[in-house]
Amino acid sequence: MSTSLLYQAFGIRGYRYVRTDYVEGAVFFTIKQDREKLRCSACGSSRVTAHGNEVRVFRLVPIGRKQTHLLFPISRVECHDCQLTRQVAVPFADPRRRHTHAFERYALELSKHMTIQDVAHHLGVGWDTIKDIQKRDLQLHFAKPKLKGLRRIAIDEIAVGGGHRYLTVVLDLQSGAVVFVGDGKGSEALKPFWKRLRASRARIEAVATDMSLAYINAVREHLPRAIHVFDHFHVIKLFNEKLSDFRRELYREATDQLQKEILKGTRWLLLKNPENLDPKRRERERLEEALRINPWQPCTT
Ligand SMILES: [Zn+2]
Repeated sequence: MSTSLLYQAFGIRGYRYVRTDYVEGAVFFTIKQDREKLRCSACGSSRVTAHGNEVRVFRLVPIGRKQTHLLFPISRVECHDCQLTRQVAVPFADPRRRHTHAFERYALELSKHMTIQDVAHHLGVGWDTIKDIQKRDLQLHFAKPKLKGLRRIAIDEIAVGGGHRYLTVVLDLQSGAVVFVGDGKGSEALKPFWKRLRASRARIEAVATDMSLAYINAVREHLPRAIHVFDHFHVIKLFNEKLSDFRRELYREATDQLQKEILKGTRWLLLKNPENLDPKRRERERLEEALRINPWQPCTT
Protein backbone atom coordinates (compact mmCIF):
# COMPACT_ATOMS: atom_id res chain seq x y z
CA MET A 1 0.00 0.00 0.00
CA SER A 2 1.19 3.48 -0.81
CA THR A 3 -0.06 7.05 -1.02
CA SER A 4 -0.37 6.71 -4.78
CA LEU A 5 -2.34 3.45 -4.57
CA LEU A 6 -4.66 5.15 -2.09
CA TYR A 7 -5.51 7.60 -4.83
CA GLN A 8 -5.59 5.11 -7.71
CA ALA A 9 -7.72 2.50 -5.95
CA PHE A 10 -9.89 4.61 -3.66
CA GLY A 11 -9.84 8.11 -5.11
CA ILE A 12 -8.34 9.59 -1.96
CA ARG A 13 -5.84 12.26 -2.79
CA GLY A 14 -3.70 14.63 -0.78
CA TYR A 15 -3.19 12.45 2.32
CA ARG A 16 -0.29 10.46 3.57
CA TYR A 17 -0.60 6.67 3.91
CA VAL A 18 0.32 5.57 7.43
CA ARG A 19 -0.34 1.85 7.83
CA THR A 20 -2.58 -1.15 7.20
CA ASP A 21 -4.21 -3.36 9.84
CA TYR A 22 -6.16 -6.58 9.41
CA VAL A 23 -8.92 -7.05 11.92
CA GLU A 24 -11.25 -10.07 11.73
CA GLY A 25 -10.91 -10.40 7.99
CA ALA A 26 -11.41 -6.71 7.35
CA VAL A 27 -8.77 -4.27 6.14
CA PHE A 28 -8.13 -0.95 7.88
CA PHE A 29 -6.02 1.70 6.20
CA THR A 30 -4.85 4.62 8.30
CA ILE A 31 -4.08 7.93 6.63
CA LYS A 32 -3.13 11.36 7.89
CA GLN A 33 -3.12 14.90 6.65
CA ASP A 34 0.18 16.80 6.65
CA ARG A 35 0.29 19.89 8.79
CA GLU A 36 0.95 22.20 5.81
CA LYS A 37 -2.15 20.89 4.04
CA LEU A 38 -4.55 21.94 6.81
CA ARG A 39 -7.01 24.63 5.68
CA CYS A 40 -9.89 26.48 7.27
CA SER A 41 -13.06 24.81 6.00
CA ALA A 42 -14.93 28.13 6.09
CA CYS A 43 -12.60 30.51 4.24
CA GLY A 44 -9.88 28.24 2.86
CA SER A 45 -7.09 30.06 4.70
CA SER A 46 -3.85 28.23 5.49
CA ARG A 47 -3.16 30.46 8.49
CA VAL A 48 -4.47 27.91 10.95
CA THR A 49 -3.44 26.33 14.23
CA ALA A 50 -4.34 22.68 14.84
CA HIS A 51 -6.17 21.82 18.04
CA GLY A 52 -6.27 18.04 18.17
CA ASN A 53 -8.36 15.71 16.03
CA GLU A 54 -11.21 13.24 15.96
CA VAL A 55 -10.55 9.80 14.46
CA ARG A 56 -13.29 8.77 12.06
CA VAL A 57 -13.75 5.50 10.21
CA PHE A 58 -15.10 5.48 6.65
CA ARG A 59 -16.17 2.54 4.50
CA LEU A 60 -14.14 2.16 1.31
CA VAL A 61 -15.07 0.03 -1.70
CA PRO A 62 -14.23 -3.58 -0.82
CA ILE A 63 -11.16 -5.35 -2.09
CA GLY A 64 -12.73 -8.48 -3.53
CA ARG A 65 -14.90 -9.82 -0.72
CA LYS A 66 -12.90 -8.03 1.95
CA GLN A 67 -14.48 -5.14 3.78
CA THR A 68 -12.18 -2.16 3.67
CA HIS A 69 -12.12 0.75 6.09
CA LEU A 70 -10.31 4.04 6.26
CA LEU A 71 -9.10 5.47 9.56
CA PHE A 72 -8.64 9.20 9.39
CA PRO A 73 -7.95 11.64 12.22
CA ILE A 74 -9.84 14.79 11.22
CA SER A 75 -7.97 17.82 12.52
CA ARG A 76 -9.65 20.64 14.33
CA VAL A 77 -8.14 23.99 13.41
CA GLU A 78 -8.38 27.55 14.58
CA CYS A 79 -8.40 30.02 11.69
CA HIS A 80 -6.49 33.29 12.10
CA ASP A 81 -8.38 34.92 9.28
CA CYS A 82 -11.98 34.25 10.20
CA GLN A 83 -11.39 33.40 13.89
CA LEU A 84 -13.47 30.23 13.67
CA THR A 85 -12.39 26.91 15.15
CA ARG A 86 -13.76 23.89 13.32
CA GLN A 87 -12.87 20.61 11.63
CA VAL A 88 -11.08 20.67 8.30
CA ALA A 89 -13.13 19.68 5.26
CA VAL A 90 -13.26 16.02 4.21
CA PRO A 91 -13.48 16.02 0.41
CA PHE A 92 -13.88 12.27 -0.05
CA ALA A 93 -17.10 11.91 2.00
CA ASP A 94 -20.26 13.85 2.75
CA PRO A 95 -20.63 15.41 6.19
CA ARG A 96 -21.85 12.95 8.84
CA ARG A 97 -21.56 10.00 6.43
CA ARG A 98 -19.60 6.91 7.30
CA HIS A 99 -18.68 5.94 3.77
CA THR A 100 -16.69 7.57 1.00
CA HIS A 101 -18.10 8.97 -2.24
CA ALA A 102 -16.47 6.08 -4.09
CA PHE A 103 -18.31 3.61 -1.83
CA GLU A 104 -21.60 5.38 -2.61
CA ARG A 105 -20.95 5.29 -6.34
CA TYR A 106 -20.17 1.60 -6.12
CA ALA A 107 -23.35 0.90 -4.15
CA LEU A 108 -25.42 2.86 -6.68
CA GLU A 109 -23.82 1.00 -9.57
CA LEU A 110 -24.64 -2.35 -7.94
CA SER A 111 -28.20 -1.16 -7.23
CA LYS A 112 -28.87 -1.11 -10.96
CA HIS A 113 -28.36 -4.84 -11.08
CA MET A 114 -29.59 -6.20 -7.76
CA THR A 115 -31.94 -5.56 -4.89
CA ILE A 116 -31.13 -3.30 -1.97
CA GLN A 117 -30.86 -6.39 0.23
CA ASP A 118 -28.30 -7.95 -2.14
CA VAL A 119 -26.21 -4.80 -2.28
CA ALA A 120 -26.29 -4.44 1.49
CA HIS A 121 -25.27 -8.06 1.93
CA HIS A 122 -22.45 -7.81 -0.60
CA LEU A 123 -21.04 -4.66 0.98
CA GLY A 124 -21.57 -5.81 4.54
CA VAL A 125 -23.72 -2.87 5.57
CA GLY A 126 -27.31 -2.52 6.70
CA TRP A 127 -30.27 -2.34 4.34
CA ASP A 128 -30.98 1.20 5.55
CA THR A 129 -27.49 2.38 4.60
CA ILE A 130 -28.07 1.43 0.96
CA LYS A 131 -31.58 2.84 1.07
CA ASP A 132 -30.18 6.11 2.40
CA ILE A 133 -27.50 6.26 -0.31
CA GLN A 134 -30.17 5.76 -2.99
CA LYS A 135 -32.46 8.32 -1.44
CA ARG A 136 -29.79 10.98 -1.30
CA ASP A 137 -28.77 10.24 -4.86
CA LEU A 138 -32.36 10.77 -6.01
CA GLN A 139 -32.59 13.99 -4.02
CA LEU A 140 -29.34 15.21 -5.50
CA HIS A 141 -30.50 14.60 -9.05
CA PHE A 142 -34.18 15.36 -8.83
CA ALA A 143 -34.87 17.59 -5.82
CA LYS A 144 -33.39 20.64 -7.49
CA PRO A 145 -33.57 20.18 -11.22
CA LYS A 146 -31.52 22.52 -13.38
CA LEU A 147 -33.59 25.51 -14.40
CA LYS A 148 -31.25 26.82 -17.07
CA GLY A 149 -33.06 25.16 -19.98
CA LEU A 150 -36.52 26.27 -18.87
CA ARG A 151 -38.48 28.14 -21.54
CA ARG A 152 -42.18 27.66 -20.88
CA ILE A 153 -43.61 27.15 -17.43
CA ALA A 154 -46.94 26.84 -15.69
CA ILE A 155 -47.58 27.91 -12.12
CA ASP A 156 -50.52 26.63 -10.11
CA GLU A 157 -51.46 25.80 -6.58
CA ILE A 158 -52.84 22.53 -5.31
CA ALA A 159 -54.69 21.86 -2.09
CA VAL A 160 -53.43 19.01 0.05
CA GLY A 161 -54.59 17.52 3.33
CA GLY A 162 -58.26 18.17 2.59
CA GLY A 163 -57.64 21.79 1.68
CA HIS A 164 -55.87 22.71 4.90
CA ARG A 165 -52.55 23.18 3.19
CA TYR A 166 -51.46 24.48 -0.18
CA LEU A 167 -48.48 23.77 -2.39
CA THR A 168 -47.43 25.97 -5.26
CA VAL A 169 -46.12 23.95 -8.16
CA VAL A 170 -44.03 25.11 -11.11
CA LEU A 171 -44.14 22.87 -14.15
CA ASP A 172 -41.84 22.71 -17.16
CA LEU A 173 -44.45 22.72 -19.91
CA GLN A 174 -42.08 21.19 -22.43
CA SER A 175 -40.98 18.15 -20.42
CA GLY A 176 -43.89 17.98 -17.99
CA ALA A 177 -41.42 17.85 -15.10
CA VAL A 178 -42.17 19.51 -11.78
CA VAL A 179 -39.28 21.92 -11.31
CA PHE A 180 -40.32 23.57 -8.05
CA VAL A 181 -42.69 22.95 -5.17
CA GLY A 182 -43.24 25.80 -2.74
CA ASP A 183 -45.02 25.71 0.61
CA GLY A 184 -48.26 27.64 0.73
CA LYS A 185 -49.74 29.77 -2.01
CA GLY A 186 -49.46 33.23 -3.49
CA SER A 187 -46.35 35.29 -4.08
CA GLU A 188 -44.66 34.24 -0.83
CA ALA A 189 -44.51 30.58 -1.86
CA LEU A 190 -42.75 31.48 -5.11
CA LYS A 191 -39.92 33.55 -3.61
CA PRO A 192 -37.32 30.72 -3.55
CA PHE A 193 -38.24 29.84 -7.13
CA TRP A 194 -37.58 33.36 -8.46
CA LYS A 195 -34.26 33.37 -6.66
CA ARG A 196 -33.18 30.08 -8.21
CA LEU A 197 -34.52 31.08 -11.60
CA ARG A 198 -32.49 34.31 -11.54
CA ALA A 199 -29.35 32.39 -10.62
CA SER A 200 -29.95 29.89 -13.44
CA ARG A 201 -30.17 32.71 -16.04
CA ALA A 202 -32.96 30.79 -17.76
CA ARG A 203 -34.73 32.72 -20.50
CA ILE A 204 -38.42 32.18 -19.86
CA GLU A 205 -40.55 32.86 -22.92
CA ALA A 206 -43.99 32.13 -21.56
CA VAL A 207 -45.75 31.58 -18.24
CA ALA A 208 -49.19 30.08 -17.79
CA THR A 209 -51.09 30.77 -14.58
CA ASP A 210 -54.62 31.33 -13.43
CA MET A 211 -55.86 34.90 -13.41
CA SER A 212 -55.27 35.76 -9.76
CA LEU A 213 -53.79 39.17 -9.10
CA ALA A 214 -50.96 37.64 -7.06
CA TYR A 215 -49.69 35.75 -10.11
CA ILE A 216 -50.23 38.66 -12.48
CA ASN A 217 -48.13 40.90 -10.25
CA ALA A 218 -45.48 38.27 -9.59
CA VAL A 219 -45.00 37.49 -13.29
CA ARG A 220 -44.93 41.18 -14.17
CA GLU A 221 -42.26 41.77 -11.55
CA HIS A 222 -40.03 38.73 -12.10
CA LEU A 223 -40.54 37.90 -15.77
CA PRO A 224 -41.42 41.22 -17.40
CA ARG A 225 -40.40 40.02 -20.85
CA ALA A 226 -42.23 36.69 -20.81
CA ILE A 227 -45.62 36.21 -22.40
CA HIS A 228 -48.17 35.68 -19.65
CA VAL A 229 -50.76 33.13 -20.69
CA PHE A 230 -53.91 32.57 -18.70
CA ASP A 231 -54.42 28.91 -19.11
CA HIS A 232 -57.45 27.57 -20.93
CA PHE A 233 -59.06 25.88 -17.93
CA HIS A 234 -58.96 29.00 -15.79
CA VAL A 235 -60.15 31.26 -18.58
CA ILE A 236 -63.14 28.99 -19.22
CA LYS A 237 -63.82 28.70 -15.49
CA LEU A 238 -63.79 32.47 -15.06
CA PHE A 239 -65.87 32.94 -18.19
CA ASN A 240 -68.47 30.49 -16.90
CA GLU A 241 -68.57 32.24 -13.55
CA LYS A 242 -69.11 35.60 -15.26
CA LEU A 243 -71.74 34.09 -17.48
CA SER A 244 -73.59 32.67 -14.48
CA ASP A 245 -73.46 36.05 -12.73
CA PHE A 246 -74.76 37.72 -15.86
CA ARG A 247 -77.57 35.19 -16.19
CA ARG A 248 -78.55 35.67 -12.56
CA GLU A 249 -78.53 39.42 -13.04
CA LEU A 250 -80.70 39.20 -16.15
CA TYR A 251 -83.11 36.92 -14.38
CA ARG A 252 -83.32 39.29 -11.43
CA GLU A 253 -83.94 42.25 -13.73
CA ALA A 254 -86.51 40.33 -15.72
CA THR A 255 -88.41 39.17 -12.68
CA ASP A 256 -88.22 42.66 -11.16
CA GLN A 257 -89.67 44.04 -14.37
CA LEU A 258 -92.36 41.36 -14.46
CA GLN A 259 -93.32 42.07 -10.89
CA LYS A 260 -93.53 45.78 -11.62
CA GLU A 261 -95.81 45.08 -14.58
CA ILE A 262 -98.09 42.91 -12.50
CA LEU A 263 -98.11 45.35 -9.63
CA LYS A 264 -98.83 48.24 -11.93
CA GLY A 265 -102.47 49.01 -11.41
CA THR A 266 -102.97 46.33 -8.77
CA ARG A 267 -102.13 48.33 -5.68
CA TRP A 268 -105.58 49.84 -5.53
CA LEU A 269 -107.10 46.32 -5.76
CA LEU A 270 -105.73 45.69 -2.33
CA LEU A 271 -107.85 48.46 -1.02
CA LYS A 272 -111.03 46.99 -2.46
CA ASN A 273 -113.21 44.63 -0.48
CA PRO A 274 -112.86 41.15 -2.02
CA GLU A 275 -116.60 40.94 -2.72
CA ASN A 276 -116.36 44.07 -4.87
CA LEU A 277 -113.64 42.71 -7.22
CA ASP A 278 -114.84 42.87 -10.83
CA PRO A 279 -114.79 39.44 -12.50
CA LYS A 280 -114.93 41.00 -15.98
CA ARG A 281 -111.68 42.82 -15.45
CA ARG A 282 -110.09 39.70 -13.88
CA GLU A 283 -109.46 41.74 -10.75
CA ARG A 284 -109.41 38.71 -8.44
CA GLU A 285 -106.83 36.84 -10.58
CA ARG A 286 -104.65 39.93 -10.87
CA LEU A 287 -104.70 40.49 -7.14
CA GLU A 288 -103.85 36.84 -6.47
CA GLU A 289 -100.95 37.02 -8.92
CA ALA A 290 -99.66 40.19 -7.26
CA LEU A 291 -99.91 38.56 -3.84
CA ARG A 292 -98.12 35.44 -5.07
CA ILE A 293 -95.01 37.28 -6.26
CA ASN A 294 -95.03 39.67 -3.31
CA PRO A 295 -95.39 37.60 -0.24
CA TRP A 296 -96.47 40.43 2.01
CA GLN A 297 -99.86 40.37 3.62
CA PRO A 298 -102.24 43.23 2.99
CA CYS A 299 -103.90 44.82 5.92
CA THR A 300 -107.50 43.68 5.78
CA THR A 301 -109.04 45.69 8.54
ZN1 LIG B 1 -11.14 30.81 8.07
